[in-house]
Amino acid sequence: MKTLNDFNFKNKKALIRVDFNVPLNDGFKVTDDTRIKSAKPSIIKILEDGGSCILMSHLGRPKDKESEFSLKHIVDRVEDIMGVEVKFASNCIGEEAQNAVNNLEAGQILLLENLRYHKEEEAGDETFAKELATLGDIYVNDAFGTAHRAHASTSVIAQFFPEKKCFGYLMEQEIKSIAKVMQTGEKPVCAILGGAKVSSKITIIDNILDKIDHLIIGGGMTFTFIKAQGGKIGNSLVEDDKLTLAKEILEKAKAKNVEVHLPIDAIIADAFSNDARTNTCDVDKIPDGWMGLDIGPNTEALFAQVVLKSKTILWNGPLGVFEMPNFAKGTIALGYAIAEATENGAFSLVGGGDSVAAVKQFGFENKVSYVSTGGGAMLESLEGKTLPGIAAILEN
Ligand code: AMP
Repeated sequence: MKTLNDFNFKNKKALIRVDFNVPLNDGFKVTDDTRIKSAKPSIIKILEDGGSCILMSHLGRPKDKESEFSLKHIVDRVEDIMGVEVKFASNCIGEEAQNAVNNLEAGQILLLENLRYHKEEEAGDETFAKELATLGDIYVNDAFGTAHRAHASTSVIAQFFPEKKCFGYLMEQEIKSIAKVMQTGEKPVCAILGGAKVSSKITIIDNILDKIDHLIIGGGMTFTFIKAQGGKIGNSLVEDDKLTLAKEILEKAKAKNVEVHLPIDAIIADAFSNDARTNTCDVDKIPDGWMGLDIGPNTEALFAQVVLKSKTILWNGPLGVFEMPNFAKGTIALGYAIAEATENGAFSLVGGGDSVAAVKQFGFENKVSYVSTGGGAMLESLEGKTLPGIAAILEN
């Protein structure tokens, strides 16, 4: 696996695919610069080697070349974060880009205009990728957030850099974190899967059952499992067409010696609202008219016990409707347990969508080993898929 440290960038132009698809407010100011900061270590390494950086990214989903999707809006913020002047080319290919690259000197950064202003980017067009490739000497992919896409700049382009392509530091960290859970994880390995539906997690469950010792299930999908076992779930979220599947998962887990931990009690509400009346009851005795929106206190204790004896922990999906303060307690309690296990030496990876939001919202970001930056890319990795952006760097 080639990484940045395998190259010296002195007098080289690094063409870096970054993920600067950041949220902007109505005044086109960046409201969350996490993704820009995540690319900083790679950029600084290249500049310190004596090279220059040509940054390419997409922003949003432009249909044409609408100026609201222009990357010119983020130039100032990139400059602030990198501490270096950032030049901008208002087209990512053609004469404009070529001239800007020709004028680029060692130690300088050039940001190219939105790749998705050209429909060829998402189509994975080879001619477009080849044209982009003429801009740099070495191709660096540091965009984990788009690694699951076979686009021109994320995977097709790599073929034009035989021996001259590598992962950036962010990609390297993401790949190693996944490997630490899925391949080399110290036992016992525990996966916590929450979120809304079984249907969206089934491929992940299937893939990880061979790799884990404990499976904790929480969130909305709990109730499909509880109903499948004959429990009363009231008005809780359920996928009636997945009851057989839920039973099969439990049987499969048993056959593979994976201990499954389902909630034993729930915080129930008489409406899907933070202002609803609430109560606590056994998870399989929820009265009609009530729904389970969080795990109960006994479940919190049970799950914490499992987490604290685990050496490798993967967390995907909240344990309750954490967006509503009255149903966030279980998710927060799990965050504390994972933080404690991590402090005691366990490796913990939080990845894929809403659990990342929860970890950030409740301040656990620096108390777990790694928080993934790629929602879809992380989910597809957990599903066992080979990501095109990763495969393209590994191929010769
Ligand atoms: P996912 O994207 O599948 O990880 O689902 C995340 C969503 O699941 C969040 O918006 C949560 O509010 C929701 N969720 C978690 N627990 C429950 C529950 N008990 N009932 C309904 N929705 C839930």
